[in-house]
Amino acid sequence: MTFTLPPLPYDMSALEPHISANTLSFHYGKHHQAYVTNLNNLTQNTPLAGKSLEDVILEVSGQADKVGIFNNAAQVWNHTFYWHCMKPSGGGQPPSDILSLIERDFGSFDTFRDQFKQAAISQFGSGWAWLVSDKGVLKITKTGNADLPMTHGHKALLTCDVWEHAYYLDYQNRRPDYVDTFLAHLINWDFVAKNLSV
Ligand code: MN
Repeated sequence: MTFTLPPLPYDMSALEPHISANTLSFHYGKHHQAYVTNLNNLTQNTPLAGKSLEDVILEVSGQADKVGIFNNAAQVWNHTFYWHCMKPSGGGQPPSDILSLIERDFGSFDTFRDQFKQAAISQFGSGWAWLVSDKGVLKITKTGNADLPMTHGHKALLTCDVWEHAYYLDYQNRRPDYVDTFLAHLINWDFVAKNLSV
């Protein structure tokens, strides 16, 4: 198999009580795995099978006859990124170096938090809320379904999965509560810092 499911960076129960082991067992073990399996099936015996995940995403982006490959490749990338955006006892205010960048581009941490939450709860249907760097300027964006910042020329710094499968077992229809919890208890600011410095 060309594309593989990367290991989860923590135990299935590590994000409890905020995200249950039950959610992660389905979200990582079933959904993320399915995107990997589908991508391998769709690209086997094609030139795409030997390419990096990022190269596949950028190469098939916008091609109507390759939308299935794009959706599965982008969802493999999005989920691997999302797992690293969370950690046990995360969330809250970032370290001072990130905080100063957020204050520079959003005015205050509270404004950043409000805009991120608004993007996450206003994404109609399935998708993702993002903190991105747009040529060095931090911005909040949202994408539908599998779409992701790299196809818009943005560098992803942080994401929250707002597909129902990310929160329905724990929060049912209460997406705003899931997003509040993500912001207050789960964000891995060390990962955001790493993305900023690359
Ligand atoms: Mn998901």
